Amino acid sequence: MDQIITRFPPSPTGYLHVGGARTALFNWLYARNTGGKFILRIEDTDAVRSTQESVDAIFESLKWLEIDWDDGPYFQTKRYDLYKEYIQNLVDLGHAYYCTCTPEEIDAMREKAKAEGGKPRYDGRCRDKNLPPSDHAVVRLKAPPSGTTVIEDVVKGTIVFQNSELDDYIIQRSDGSPTYNLAVAVDDITMGVNVVLRGDDHVNNTPKQMMIYQALGIDLPVYGHLPMVLGSDKARLSKRHGAMSVSEFRDMGILPDAMLNYLVRLGWSFGDQEFFTRNELIEKFNLKNIGRSAGVFDQNKLLALNGEHIKASNPRDLIKPLRPFMNQRGYDPQDLDTLEKAIGTLLPRSKTLVEMAEGAEFYFTDIASYDEKAVQKCFQSPASDILGRLIQALEPLESFAEADLEHAFKGVMDDMGIGFGKVANPVRVALSGKNVSPGMFEMMGVLGKALALDRLKRAKAFIDAGI
Ligand code: GLU
Repeated sequence: MDQIITRFPPSPTGYLHVGGARTALFNWLYARNTGGKFILRIEDTDAVRSTQESVDAIFESLKWLEIDWDDGPYFQTKRYDLYKEYIQNLVDLGHAYYCTCTPEEIDAMREKAKAEGGKPRYDGRCRDKNLPPSDHAVVRLKAPPSGTTVIEDVVKGTIVFQNSELDDYIIQRSDGSPTYNLAVAVDDITMGVNVVLRGDDHVNNTPKQMMIYQALGIDLPVYGHLPMVLGSDKARLSKRHGAMSVSEFRDMGILPDAMLNYLVRLGWSFGDQEFFTRNELIEKFNLKNIGRSAGVFDQNKLLALNGEHIKASNPRDLIKPLRPFMNQRGYDPQDLDTLEKAIGTLLPRSKTLVEMAEGAEFYFTDIASYDEKAVQKCFQSPASDILGRLIQALEPLESFAEADLEHAFKGVMDDMGIGFGKVANPVRVALSGKNVSPGMFEMMGVLGKALALDRLKRAKAFIDAGI
């Protein structure tokens, strides 16, 4: 086959949501997997519902997901001349015709078809009239009168439509504007798209688009219709299921790679592998493993997978995505080495970047107050004594390497005849303000000697003051 050319053609009538992002991802992955081309096209012909805000949100979400396009963005509203040319060509070739039936006539046809138990359809009465263009005329495409139109769908298998059910549909409205299916087919044809992966809510549009290819004698693209994404109650995913737009997931602190990994698994599998890096997906994605059943969106699974992606990250790579979340909490560490170390201690403990920013805050801001429960539990006698002895043991140390810290802790444990947990508890609260934190020595390594000792002393003073 020639170079694979796929496309993502969102209608800018809202934010990029989970289903749309998955469609974009599948097309993008297939293009990347095959060394093909991925086109972005904005289907903005619905003037009432299309907004610039949605266009911007779609671009922003794709950029965040790092789904990049090789061609476009094209805007359908800028391509009306091309559509007109194609419509004229279809008329000239005898595949389309002007129709002047009034709305009342069309309604009557519908009623009649219904009364006869058939599908409401245009009865073709202007088909052979050879009418000229006129103010109120629409253009209709001649549907094949008999036989079948067959989609060899790479996801759903063979789908057969009876041509008797297809009618001569309108490709140009009376105001001269093209209709949706005409525009999509002309775009796909002129952009050389040869693989169309889209939601199965478009299945019924496909024969209409195929009619244009067939009229013009152009090879059909490969079609694959993806099952819808459902909510946990198996209803089609909608707002009431919670977060749905890609930007909401970004704001929840999901990593783009985790989002891609989650989205791909909503409709594609590779054995029982769940975790994929971006490069692995590009390498392994194929059409044959796209599933036939609907994916069920489960936010908890997304969070768990995000945790795994965070855990597998290189701390340095998280600095940039983490920064807005730290800024939101009002801190902005500039010492990148310390920040990297701090992130390193939080990798196994953060499901999201929101959690990570919260978890890292104590490293970079003064502890304004100790967690009340932690004080109750960990600042009881002999906490002051423990902290005092530890301060003494740590003060002469030249290095805060783990072995040296261990040695100092061991000295206090032996002197007092108590175990590591007993010593660690007040230290943990002194250093972090909380009783859940990264490992003791890890924290001390990040804070460094001066800051760690300062916090231990403050905690001792707090306990001694008996507040
Ligand atoms: N604009 C359509 C949508 O947003 C997609 C059409 C297509 O993929 O052919 O659902």
